[in-house]
Amino acid sequence: MSQFTGGCLSGNIRYSAIADPIFMSVCHCKDCQRATGSAFGAVAEVPEASVTIQGKQKFYTSKGDTDNNISHSFRPERGGTLLSTAAIIPNVIMLTTGTLDDTSAFKLTMQIYCGSAKPCLQPGGAMKSFPNMPPPG
Ligand SMILES: [Zn+2]
Repeated sequence: MSQFTGGCLSGNIRYSAIADPIFMSVCHCKDCQRATGSAFGAVAEVPEASVTIQGKQKFYTSKGDTDNNISHSFRPERGGTLLSTAAIIPNVIMLTTGTLDDTSAFKLTMQIYCGSAKPCLQPGGAMKSFPNMPPPG
């Protein structure tokens, strides 16, 4: 088991999780690009029951390409996505890895939605890469 701790830039929202990550991924989808204001999202998926959160979050919901809801958490006064949940992956929280206290804990295992990757960030290497969502299982 690994322990993950993290929080927002101001420190008003903190989270911790003791879990074996389900997977750690980079997502190149348009929603992650918009939600992060960057070229991709990077998350560590952990069981929801392993996560403890302190502080007041707000949420907004978007629709994924499978038409399922994705809920994004952020700090009301400053923005910035802390974590997300996706209806298509129940009982899982996706910790935004830029919010981890120790970002070296992020061990990239796959890339998804590579079909939307920026041309200068084309997937490479030996990791698993999927043009969209990986198949179930
Ligand atoms: Zn995405």
